[in-house]
Amino acid sequence: MSDSFKALVARKDDSHSCDYETLTLDDLDVGDVTVSVDYSTLNFKDGLAITGAAPIAQRQPLILGIDYSGTVIESQHTGFNVGDRVVMNGYGASEYLHGGYAERARVSGDLLVKLPDSISNAQAMAIGTAGYTAMLSVMALQNNGPAPGDGPILVTGAAGGVGSVAISLLADLGYEVVASTGRMSEAEFLKSLGAADTLDRAGLSERGKPLQKEQWAGVVDCVGSHTLANAIAQTRYDGVVTACGLAQGADLPATVMPFILRNVRLQGVDSVQAPMARRLTAWSRLADELDMQKLEALSFDLPFSEVLSRAPDILAGKTRGRAVVDLS
Ligand code: NDP
Repeated sequence: MSDSFKALVARKDDSHSCDYETLTLDDLDVGDVTVSVDYSTLNFKDGLAITGAAPIAQRQPLILGIDYSGTVIESQHTGFNVGDRVVMNGYGASEYLHGGYAERARVSGDLLVKLPDSISNAQAMAIGTAGYTAMLSVMALQNNGPAPGDGPILVTGAAGGVGSVAISLLADLGYEVVASTGRMSEAEFLKSLGAADTLDRAGLSERGKPLQKEQWAGVVDCVGSHTLANAIAQTRYDGVVTACGLAQGADLPATVMPFILRNVRLQGVDSVQAPMARRLTAWSRLADELDMQKLEALSFDLPFSEVLSRAPDILAGKTRGRAVVDLS
């Protein structure tokens, strides 16, 4: 490759703009590891950043892409050698650090995770931030939460990236999973991932009573707003609800009643600033526990040239599973 490469760059002059540009290594961030980026992906947050629907990019010009996998081509960091396969997600990529929508990246090695041998660079981005967040959600749910056999686990935003990987992980751990989706046409797909049953998300989308019939031993919520409020109101005594997303909205129109009368616990899940030890556990568990055949079934290839035009689709909830963007 010559010194120049293609990147998807956001700029903000009078208004937000985003387009493909040709950059050189000198345009990258300062850092002790240079990576030849092999794959990136399209997450909900990427959709927000590309379209400017939310102010994700905190500096400009900025290479977008909240995550990437690749191979180290230069390193002054003691933890990394040329040829190491790495994954980067969160830690400000696409916010205040250049992200993964470019053929090259330079970053502090302190922010990189070495990929387990059993996860290829393409699989790492089929998993991506969404799949890694799904694992963080499962870990949060399992932390003094329900065990398999204690009752059903509700997964909301089921056909999306986080939801679909969470279904696969939970089902393979032996949990009975109920998938809430707005796309009942995807019911068979969700069952193929391990969902025992599916629910039309419409039943959770409107304002509901503060306490409802106890149903769920646990919840993995990707949606927020009324959906999360209703899920909390339907959680059984001692149940655990994890909240990672805001696909319906960032509000939480709930009451304290499920917390003070049913001992329900609400646990937030953040992937961006998650400490390194938790990241390493998550990636190691993904290597051991994620069914790679299911991962293949829930992922699809998205050409780099189409990332810009397909970004609105993910915000409109039209993307099923995980998009893998090949930059190699
Ligand atoms: P996706 O777009 O792939 O999935 C979101 C899913 O939510 C959609 O597929 C859809 O599922 C459902 N949905 C969309 N709009 C609505 C709506 N108006 N009401 C109810 N449900 C809706 O996104 P990801 O899976 O990548 O991310 C899911 C959420 O998690 C996002 O909000 C994202 O920002 C957040 N996130 C947070 C992270 C963190 O660190 N906390 C990290 C990663 C993601 P269906 O069609 O099945 O109904």
